[in-house]
Amino acid sequence: MSDPARLLVVEDEAHLAAGLKLNFELEGYAVDVAATARDAARLLARPNGYATIVLDVMLPDLDGFALCRRLRESGNYTPVVMLTARSAAEDRIRGLEAGADDYLVKPFQLDELLARVRSQIRRSQWERKRSGTAPLGNRLTFGQAHIDFSAHEVSVAGESLHLTRLEFDLLRYFADNAGRVIGRKELLEQVWKLRNYPNTRTVDNFVARLRKHFEIEAARPLHFLSVRGSGYKFVPEGSG
Ligand code: CA
Repeated sequence: MSDPARLLVVEDEAHLAAGLKLNFELEGYAVDVAATARDAARLLARPNGYATIVLDVMLPDLDGFALCRRLRESGNYTPVVMLTARSAAEDRIRGLEAGADDYLVKPFQLDELLARVRSQIRRSQWERKRSGTAPLGNRLTFGQAHIDFSAHEVSVAGESLHLTRLEFDLLRYFADNAGRVIGRKELLEQVWKLRNYPNTRTVDNFVARLRKHFEIEAARPLHFLSVRGSGYKFVPEGSG
């Protein structure tokens, strides 16, 4: 038997944290609990990696969004499932922009959280396995970029690059719809899974991120083009 997958639960409500720990342990996971962002940072600095982090948004010292952002900026891409008391789409978007992989609103069903965590672990195990033996096909090359969608591998000018899950999903959607003008609302629905969400600024933020990653000059994009009044168009062969 291999070691059990280790989870980090970051939650300051002691009752809830203890309940989550117990239930995850019953599922066969090893669990560490941090009651503050500071404790979480200390645990995360240890070499033994976590399979997934369950991260509450409301913490006494630093909010979960900021903690998640710091984690990603430091190069740690452990899957993060965020917990929040508010169901506002704004919060969901903030979480995803901070680099979270999934999002659950309190009060949630325990089964639902277990299922989300299982799915994150499965997905990252699958990605790790695939990256060893990348099959042919499902690849995209444009400009200086090489993307292997199966292996979840991205490189630009030979340098490998890590995309957040949402950046990756957006890139894949552009790739699947290359050459077609795609509206912001369509992107919100198809990539963010948000319906009737009025604010499309988050789409622009993420296209800006892709440009920063892939365009030689982000201000003069050749591949991720703005189409005035309509949305965006991805042109693998480059424009102009
Ligand atoms: Ca809390």
